[in-house]
Amino acid sequence: MKKIRYVLIALMIGCLIFCFWLISNKNNKYEKQEFIMDTTCSITLYGKECEAAGNAIFDEIRRIDSLMNMHDEKSEISRINRAKANEKIKVSNDTYYVLKTALEICRESDGAFDITIAPVTSLWDFKSGKAEIPSEESIKNALLCVGYYNIVLDGNNTVYKLKDESCIDLGAAAKGYAGDKALEVAKKYSLTGGIIDLGGNILCFGENPTGDNGKWKVGIQTPFKQTGTYEKIIEIDNKTVVTSGTYQRYFEKSGKIYHHIIDPETGYPSRQKYNSVTIVADSSLKADCLATAIFVMGEKGKNLAKKYNGDVYIE
Ligand code: AMP
Ligand code: MG
Repeated sequence: MKKIRYVLIALMIGCLIFCFWLISNKNNKYEKQEFIMDTTCSITLYGKECEAAGNAIFDEIRRIDSLMNMHDEKSEISRINRAKANEKIKVSNDTYYVLKTALEICRESDGAFDITIAPVTSLWDFKSGKAEIPSEESIKNALLCVGYYNIVLDGNNTVYKLKDESCIDLGAAAKGYAGDKALEVAKKYSLTGGIIDLGGNILCFGENPTGDNGKWKVGIQTPFKQTGTYEKIIEIDNKTVVTSGTYQRYFEKSGKIYHHIIDPETGYPSRQKYNSVTIVADSSLKADCLATAIFVMGEKGKNLAKKYNGDVYIE
């Protein structure tokens, strides 16, 4: 009788330990999606502090968006866009650093990447979902305002423009920076690994508990196929994978596709023959700028990626 009682007690303790293990394991994974920066941000984290880390990461992405979103009139970028020529605008370290890095790639790409493309992207208006082909005249006029060399970084976090009409669009760079900052936040917490996906800007760190040997694998989306259909799968270790693709934002008119990556020379969607450019590199900000730049530059852009130690995949 006594023996049965011991067995029952042992079973109950066993059950309790199992339940505790189940609950604590469940709490060791965080998975959440939110629509920020005009894209779906998906975050998966593993480790003891995953919940707190996830919340802090989403706060950080929202903070970067509020500084750099040209459609938010309170953002620092909007303040620069509203300013008159030579009016000095003081910005945060974040905005200054992104402008400095992005302007470097504007120069290096000979203007194929140009953060002052805003007057043209506003005409195309891919964001509204009601985009139309703008008139030739309006594109010609908007192009007169484009030129990254009209943005001057004056040291001490101060920015000014040489032309009243110059306007900045960081749509091709800010998500990359938000990814780098999200990773920085993740590293402050006790985590074993995770994946941060800001709509085509992907960063992985630590171990993948569901992958072979704990490695992370990232698929390169097959353009125009259902999300999750992959052209190629790359194994990455503490790197970022950033894709610029026609299929991410476009509309069709008379059987022709008009996508959101604009050639600053013509004011029309870049006419390369491929549908996506993926960069694998250390910095997500630089990879973001490079993916857009190389989309416009074509083959000759591959040398630019090399300069930044980035691997290029063109589909
Ligand atoms: P991404 O998806 O990173 O290639 O960025 C595309 C977004 O960047 C567009 O939706 C525009 O807001 C902006 N953009 C388009 N063309 C260019 C360009 N040539 N240089 C810089 N930004 C651009
Ligand atoms: Mg980009």
